[in-house]
Amino acid sequence: MIIPIRCISCGELIGDKWEKYSEELAAGKDPKKILDDLKVEKYCCRSALTTHADIMDEIAIFKKKLVSVKSK
Ligand SMILES: [Zn+2]
Repeated sequence: MIIPIRCISCGELIGDKWEKYSEELAAGKDPKKILDDLKVEKYCCRSALTTHADIMDEIAIFKKKLVSVKSK
């Protein structure tokens, strides 16, 4: 889904770091180095970013079907 704005465990702001993290990860950079550069130091926040699955594009397909069914 969408990355949580704040870490679920500690409340630290992490939503603003997702875009840069995912871009650099796709470019082949080491996740540890990216998180260190972004100054994400706590384990809970690091795990929230590293384990997040961005499936919004796949979910959006179902949303379109649901809207088309309602309009008929
Ligand atoms: Zn945290």
